[in-house]
Amino acid sequence: MEKTIEQIKEEALKELEAASDSESIKAISVRYLGRKGAVTRFLRNISSLPLEIRPEAGKKANETKKTLEALFNKALKQFATASYEVAGEIDVSLPGRALHQGSLHPITQISHQICNIFIRLGFDVAEGPEVETDYYNFEALNIPKNHPARDMQDTFYISKNVVLRTHTSPTQPRIMEKQKPPVRVVAPGKVYRCDSDLTHTPMFHQVEGFLVDENVSFGDLKGILTTFAHQMFDKETSLRFRPSFFPFTEPSAEVDIRCVICKGKGCRVCSNTGWLEVLGAGMVHPAVFENVGYNTTRYTGFAFGMGVERIAMLKYGIDDIRKYFENDLRFLRQF
Ligand SMILES: [Zn+2]
Repeated sequence: MEKTIEQIKEEALKELEAASDSESIKAISVRYLGRKGAVTRFLRNISSLPLEIRPEAGKKANETKKTLEALFNKALKQFATASYEVAGEIDVSLPGRALHQGSLHPITQISHQICNIFIRLGFDVAEGPEVETDYYNFEALNIPKNHPARDMQDTFYISKNVVLRTHTSPTQPRIMEKQKPPVRVVAPGKVYRCDSDLTHTPMFHQVEGFLVDENVSFGDLKGILTTFAHQMFDKETSLRFRPSFFPFTEPSAEVDIRCVICKGKGCRVCSNTGWLEVLGAGMVHPAVFENVGYNTTRYTGFAFGMGVERIAMLKYGIDDIRKYFENDLRFLRQF
């Protein structure tokens, strides 16, 4: 014996009562009122019932169908409203609040830009530790214990032989010890010096770069740095190499670019000279090669270093370095 329409209705109502979301109501509706649903099947089979009960069964079945349809629709509406409008606390007609999207810090962005230029020129990227030994920070770079050049860098000492690195240059001996030439590496990172004013912060960022191979000349250094300046600033940027001194390069140079603000006419940023110092560079000192076991008659190389904040200040025209580290969102959101 088939189920009676009353039994079918009772089961449907029981399932509806147990339903906890609109998806399950939709599924129940399909099970009873769908093309192959229980009520639909019952209606289709009426012709097989005994003649005398057919009219009454047909009437009841149609009523049941309408009742269930109405109940399902009502339940669906209730769930839809409930999920958006919990007890009237949420007005679904109000416009949404925009989410703030985070972005990289301007210094990180500039550091990435600098490294990307050198990556395109065939350099690898490497990083070294910020807590460094006296050996790698100084001695391996031809700055022995009593060398006057140590006074150039106001060092934070952690212990007698451990420092917060004062420059990214320790990456040079660290990599050269492990890797035979040719090496082409840029090393970005944080460095620390006991110094704080308009243009200095105790922590700042540098990008170090070096290239060692046979027959590397000062001309190669000039070519690489000129390409860098043209890509970082603009194609018209001219460079000026001034003789300088660093213990780990010989000869050494400080590199200026034509002022990006006044294009060389003279302004406050360039102190009316028309030039801006952006880099230190030079040919790697043979003493550094000896420390890492490179053959000084076979290999030559160059190294350069720049302050990321300095490049960022010039690129964005900001004259107070401390703004970069005050975490004022109004400032940071501009980048
Ligand atoms: Zn200028």
